[in-house]
Amino acid sequence: MTTRPSGVRGVAILGSTGSVGTTALRVIDRQRDHFRVAALTAFSNRELLDEQVARFQPSFSGLATAGAGCLVEAAQRDDVDIVLNAVVGAAGLDATLAALERGKRVALANKETLVMAGQLVTSACERGGGELVPVDSEHSAILQCITGRPGVEVRRVIITASGGPFRQWTPDQLARATVEDALRHPTWRMGKKITVDSATLANKALEVIEAHFLFGLPYDRIEVVVHPQSVVHSFVEFVDGSVLAQVGSPSMELPVLYALTHPDRLADSGVPPFDPVALSPWTFEPIRRELFPAFSLGVEAGRAGGAAPAVFNAANEAAVALFLSGRIRFQDIGAAIADALDRCASYTGESREALLAADAAARQTVHDRFL
Ligand code: NAD
Ligand code: MG
Repeated sequence: MTTRPSGVRGVAILGSTGSVGTTALRVIDRQRDHFRVAALTAFSNRELLDEQVARFQPSFSGLATAGAGCLVEAAQRDDVDIVLNAVVGAAGLDATLAALERGKRVALANKETLVMAGQLVTSACERGGGELVPVDSEHSAILQCITGRPGVEVRRVIITASGGPFRQWTPDQLARATVEDALRHPTWRMGKKITVDSATLANKALEVIEAHFLFGLPYDRIEVVVHPQSVVHSFVEFVDGSVLAQVGSPSMELPVLYALTHPDRLADSGVPPFDPVALSPWTFEPIRRELFPAFSLGVEAGRAGGAAPAVFNAANEAAVALFLSGRIRFQDIGAAIADALDRCASYTGESREALLAADAAARQTVHDRFL
């Protein structure tokens, strides 16, 4: 257990120019009595980073294009109590590990990190006395439902999925889906990579694996249901049959704030007042697995363990980048993932180096297939 320092806590925001990063800055701007921006990092958007630095006066800032080491440097600083990792993709791994080794709280949006190296991240957390708190809205919902209750009481979690823009599309329509179609998410405004992941449902597979490592639940106790309105953020079923859910308008303001304050709550105006009638109806339906193969491939990779989740994640990242640049079709993403999992089956995941080798090999199979 880490002791919670009193007073104003220093926050490092990695990926401060992105969708989650800018949300976090809005949250902290309202909560200056409790949190201070201690460090900021971005990838290439120097102009926006400079504006953020001028406004929030962090003691450290760095641009990853000028040296990727700035992420780890920001994550380890003495004046940083909480590292909000809002970087997209495997690039966030070392910063998560470094912060946990130093005993810091990691508010984790960068789910790819936990998927590729769940075991390493968990043991870095135990070794360093750090704390891993989810920013992902579904996992925040689960955490909010189980906080203060021993884990043995949980029978099952049910993660909700919006179903993405192609929820009701036919296979013929999907074969012609454009980048623009995939980026038209029905309920959330997010970065491009996660928006495509929501369209393929790879994002839900990443979230199942994320839940497995965050909450120590076996895969047969993690289920997914499609809920197009994104009002119920997830369910937890307890051993006596009682089911709790956390609900509200789809907004990342609350999950970001809660990742900073857990297990406490702070008064905040980030989420509009709850109006169940205006948010009605709430509907639920099963995933159409045959249309969205990335979902089952990802969950199977999670069950297989070892390097398979890292291969799944890396192949997906590489394929999504090719899709976004117009070089492959939407349905090629699932095919690329299946192919990489097949070809990289002999990789193992016992160390950071082994996982990075599996990650590189998976990206290579995707490039060999299409380029
Ligand atoms: P985004 O693309 O809007 O922002 C990504 C940020 O990371 C940017 O600041 C960018 O500069 C930085 N970055 C990108 N590549 C980098 C690299 N190689 N090295 C260092 N920095 C790099 O993405 P986002 O939507 O904010 O998502 C960030 C993470 O949060 C992802 O893992 C995503 O899955 C997760 N997430 C996002 C949301 C959401 O609502 N946007 C919700 C849940 C989870
Ligand atoms: Mg989510």
